[in-house]
Amino acid sequence: MKLHPKKSLGQNFLTDPNTACKIVRALDPQPGDSIIEIGAGTGVLTRHLLACDAEIIAVEIDERATAILDEIALDAPNLRVLQQDILDVDFRALGIRATPCRIIGNLPYYLTSQILFHLFDQAEVIKDAVLMMQKEVAERLTAHPRTKQYGILSVMAQLYSDVTMSFTVPPTVFTPKPRVMSAVLHLAFHTSRVARIRNMDVFRRIVRGTFGKRRKTMLNCLKHIEMADHLPDTLTPYLGCRPEELTVDDFIFLANEIVTHD
Ligand code: SAM
Repeated sequence: MKLHPKKSLGQNFLTDPNTACKIVRALDPQPGDSIIEIGAGTGVLTRHLLACDAEIIAVEIDERATAILDEIALDAPNLRVLQQDILDVDFRALGIRATPCRIIGNLPYYLTSQILFHLFDQAEVIKDAVLMMQKEVAERLTAHPRTKQYGILSVMAQLYSDVTMSFTVPPTVFTPKPRVMSAVLHLAFHTSRVARIRNMDVFRRIVRGTFGKRRKTMLNCLKHIEMADHLPDTLTPYLGCRPEELTVDDFIFLANEIVTHD
């Protein structure tokens, strides 16, 4: 079913069934799964998901699109349609059947970072996610230290999950065609790293604050965010480095040492 796309809602609809099928296959849905679809649009991915006997919760902000999804739901008892801003959806309050749940979405690109942080904030109820986003943003999520792309998004994504690039997608499979290349990522959420963090607020303040000044040394960055008082000797090897040289584990160590010696 057709819908006149609204640019303000990031509506680049997928028109190629093969790509839709490939994205759903990257999630590998199983009977009994609970799957939340972000930005379901006119249901291109939803229809493929319905074939696998899982519980599907399709979240979509545009009521023109939810009207179409509601029609699909008439013949699909395992589909629930929520007309809501995804950033207002608390996954823990949805009463989903199987937790942790699984996430899929061809994201509205204007909201990619905010959606990612919304997922990180609810990481404990998420098993994994397959997300299509701008290729340039996908490369930031998978970036290694000492590269131009490595930054806040890389550290946060790799803190909460193991991230892998599944495949890239050209503009030609969308209507209208986006100006950028897209990529599909798989994020396998886990708690092994997060569980080691003593104070998440301090950790996030350090990561945000230091990458905000990525050309400076860690010592100057920490001074800038007023976290350089009483630095323990254990941190000396890090203080001459730039933030982009530190791994996620280095940031965890650094934040924990600062909390301990505060
Ligand atoms: N899944 C469909 C597809 O692949 O063709 C649509 C993908 S389109 C790139 C992004 C979708 O996200 C649009 O349908 C748009 O209306 C929806 N959207 C935009 N902002 C949203 C928000 N804050 N919460 C939920 N959905 C949103």
